[in-house]
Amino acid sequence: MPRDAIKLRLLLVGLLLSLAAIVGVELLPDRTLDLTRPGAVGNLFLITPGDVRNDPPVQWVDARRLHWRCRYAPTDHDFPCGLTLILSGKDPARGLDLTRFHSLELDLAYHGSSPQVRVAIRNFDPRFSKLEDGNSARIQAINLRARDVEHPVVLDLSEFTVPEWWVSQYNLPREYNRPRLDNATSLSVDLPANLAGQEHDLELRRLVLRGEWLDRSLVYFAILSAWMLGAAFLVMRRWAELRRRYLRQQREIDALTARTRALRVEQDNLRRLATVDELTGVLNRRGLEAALDDFEARAEGVTLVLLDIDHFKRVNDRWGHAAGDEVLRRVAAIAAANLRASDVIGRWGGEEFLVACRGHHIDDAARLAEKLRASVENGNVDAKSRFSITASFGVALAPTGTSTLRAFKRADAALYRAKSGGRNRVEVDTTHDAATTL
Ligand code: GH3
Ligand code: MG
Ligand code: MG
Repeated sequence: MPRDAIKLRLLLVGLLLSLAAIVGVELLPDRTLDLTRPGAVGNLFLITPGDVRNDPPVQWVDARRLHWRCRYAPTDHDFPCGLTLILSGKDPARGLDLTRFHSLELDLAYHGSSPQVRVAIRNFDPRFSKLEDGNSARIQAINLRARDVEHPVVLDLSEFTVPEWWVSQYNLPREYNRPRLDNATSLSVDLPANLAGQEHDLELRRLVLRGEWLDRSLVYFAILSAWMLGAAFLVMRRWAELRRRYLRQQREIDALTARTRALRVEQDNLRRLATVDELTGVLNRRGLEAALDDFEARAEGVTLVLLDIDHFKRVNDRWGHAAGDEVLRRVAAIAAANLRASDVIGRWGGEEFLVACRGHHIDDAARLAEKLRASVENGNVDAKSRFSITASFGVALAPTGTSTLRAFKRADAALYRAKSGGRNRVEVDTTHDAATTL
C-alpha cells in the first residue's frame, strides 16, 4: 500500500478514536455511591442528647428504612435531631475521598416545623484534626429550606461551606478553612434550629453520591497529548528523512566534485603530454608551433635559434640508442639552463631543437646561440667522457607581423650553412623579411 494511503488511514483511525473517546466520556453514566443502601456505610446512628432517659427523645421508627422521630419537651433546649453516617472504615481517621463525586442526591421525607434541614460532612485533616475531638474534623455544611426537600434534591458538593462558628472555634490558618472533601469521615442529616417542645419525623429515603468515572479534562488532555505526540513524531520523522536525503545529496555532490577535480587533473596531464616532449621535458613540435602562433598573435617580433647536434648518428651507432637519448636530454637541459623566462625551447624533431626569443634583437639571439654552442661543446654531455658533442646553429628573425614559419626556413638555411661550413658554429640569417613585405 502506498505510504500516503497508510498515513490517510492512520489519520482516519486517529480521528475516529478521538471522536469515540469524546462521545464516550460524554455518554458514560455517572459513578454513583448509594449511602442508603444496606451495608454501604461502616456505621450509622441517631444523634441523641447526652442524658438518655427511659423514654429517649430521639428514636427509630424503622431503623431499616432510616426512619426516626425526635420528640422534645418544652424544656429541652438545644437538643439535636439527626442521623450520622460513618464513612470511615476501621481507621476512624481515614474516610472517603469525595473529590471523585460532584453532587449528592437527597430524598428526605420530613414532617415537622423546623424551617431548615442541614446536611453536613466532616472531613478529617491530619494537619489539625484529632481523633479525641470529633468536632476538629472540619465541618462543611449546607442548610436547606424545609420546603426544598419536599422533593428529591440534588446538591452540588461545591455548595458546601465551612460554617463561621467552626472557623472561629478552631482559629486555624486561612488555608485550613477552605472546604475540602478528600477524607470525609461522616455525613449527617439534621435539623439546625431550636427544637424545644417540638416533634419531628424524618425518613432518609435516598442519599446518593454522583460523580464521573473519568475526569473529562483528563480525557481531553489525553486526546490532545496523543495528537501532539503524533504530530511531533511525524515532524521528527520527516525531518530525519529530509536530513538523510540532504546528506546523501551532499555525498553525491562531494563525489562529483572529486571526480571533476580528478578529471581536470587528468585533462591537464593529457594537455601537457600533448605539447611536451617525453624524452627531454621541453616542448614537442606541437607545443613549439603553438608557442610560435602565440608569438605571431602578440605581434612583438621573434628571433629563432635552431640547434642541430653534430654527427649525432655516430653516437647512436657507436654508443647505442640509449646513449643517444641521454645526449638529447643533456643538450636540452644545457640549452634550457641558458634561457630567460620569456624564451621558449622545444624539440623540433630528431636531434634538432628550436629556441624562440621575444623581440627583434637578432644580435642577442646570435649571442645566445654562441653561448649555447660553447655550453654544449664544454658541457661534458657524455657523463662518461667517452665522446664529445658539438652542435651547429642557425639564427633568423621574424619581425613583427611576419611569418615565423618563413623565419624558421631561413634559420634552417643558416643552419645548413653552419653544417657545411664545418659544424660547431653559428650562422645568422641576414635576409630577413621586412614587416612591410607581408
Ligand atoms: P649532422 O651532423 O649532419 O646533423 O649529422 P647527424 O648524424 O647528426 O644527422 P642525421 O640526420 O644523419 O642523423 C640523425 C640521427 O638522429 C638519425 C636518428 O636515428 C637519430 N635520432 C633521431 N631521433 C632520435 C631519438 O629520439 N633518439 C636517438 N637516440 N636517436 C635519434
Ligand atoms: Mg638533423
Ligand atoms: Mg645532426
